[in-house]
Amino acid sequence: MTRTTPPRPVDIAAVLPELAPLARTSVRLHPRPGAPTAADSSVGGPLLWPADEPWPTCPEHTGPWLTGYDPEDLRAQRRILTEGWARPRTPGTDFLTPEERAFVNGLGYTGVRKPLDGEVPLLPVLQLYARDVPSLPRPPGTDLLQVLWCSFEHGEDCMPGVQLRWRTAEEVRSPRETPWPPVVSENGYLPEPCLLHPEPGVVEYPAPHELDDDLAERVAAWEEGGAYDYHSDLAVAPGWKLGGYGNWSFCDPWPMNCEECGSAMRPFLTVDSSEWDGGTGSWCPEEEPAPDERPLYPQSHEPTMVNIGRGYTMQIHLCPESFDHPHLQAMQ
Ligand SMILES: [Zn+2]
Ligand SMILES: [Zn+2]
Repeated sequence: MTRTTPPRPVDIAAVLPELAPLARTSVRLHPRPGAPTAADSSVGGPLLWPADEPWPTCPEHTGPWLTGYDPEDLRAQRRILTEGWARPRTPGTDFLTPEERAFVNGLGYTGVRKPLDGEVPLLPVLQLYARDVPSLPRPPGTDLLQVLWCSFEHGEDCMPGVQLRWRTAEEVRSPRETPWPPVVSENGYLPEPCLLHPEPGVVEYPAPHELDDDLAERVAAWEEGGAYDYHSDLAVAPGWKLGGYGNWSFCDPWPMNCEECGSAMRPFLTVDSSEWDGGTGSWCPEEEPAPDERPLYPQSHEPTMVNIGRGYTMQIHLCPESFDHPHLQAMQ
C-alpha cells in the first residue's frame, strides 16, 4: 500500500517567495510493521550480506561488564502486548492473560539486563534497494544501502554508533544469515521489523533556525495569530526519510563539516522516533485510519518502536565529495 503525504495546508512559498529557491525534496520511507526478508527494503529486517564477509562488531563495547536487554525478551514482550491490546476486553479486567502478565511483569516492562560476552555484533537498522528508491545517493555501481548500529552509547550525543555499507546486490551470490546481538542497550534501539513504502518528492523548507534573520522574522510575523506553525506544519517532514532538511529542534544548527575535507555536509538519512504527531496532524499519510480506528499498541505513528533519546531524531549527514569520507550524526 502506498502512503501519501497530504498537500501542505498552506503553500508557504507562495506567501514568502524567498523560500521557493530553498525548497528541497525528501523521500519519506513510511516504515510499517511486516516480515521483511533480506530481499526487501526494510527497517530492522535481515540484511543481504555475503557469507565470506565478517559481520561487523563494535570494538568499543565488549563484555562482560556491559549489560543489556535480550532482543528475544523485548520481541516476546512486544508480541504479547500487541496481541493483548488487539483482543476484545471486558472493562475492569486485565488485557493480558495471567501467563502473559507474569511474563511481562517478570521483565519489568523493559527486560532483565544480561551481561555481554565479547564484542557485540552490529544490529541491522535499515536496508534500502535502489530499485525502491531510484534517487538513493550511492557510489557508482552500487544499488544497496545498509545501515547498522551498535546500540550502546557513542560520541557526545550518547547515541548508537552507526555504520553505513553500500554494495551491489547481485554480487552477493551466497548470502549469510543475519546474526542478532545477544543484548541491546535500550528497548528503543531495537527496531521492529518493518517494510518500507517510499514516497519521493516530499517538498521541504529549512527549519527556522537555518533561515537568515530577516526571513526568519518574516516567517515569525506570518505565523503570528495564524493557525499554522511554519516549522512543524510546513517546513520539515517528520519520520524516517532520505534527504530534505534537518529537524533542528532543541539547539541552533551548527556547521556539519566533513572531518576529512571540510566540505559542508548534507542531510542524508533521518531516523525518527515517530512518523507524525500521532493525531491528525498534516503529515499523517492520507491512507491512515482515523485515530479511533487505530490499534492501541504499537501506536500507528511509532511503527519502528525506535526511540532516539527521548523522542528525538538521529540525523545522519554525508559528505558531497566522497562516500568514503566519514558520516556525521546529530541528535535533534
Ligand atoms: Zn559500540
Ligand atoms: Zn569530505
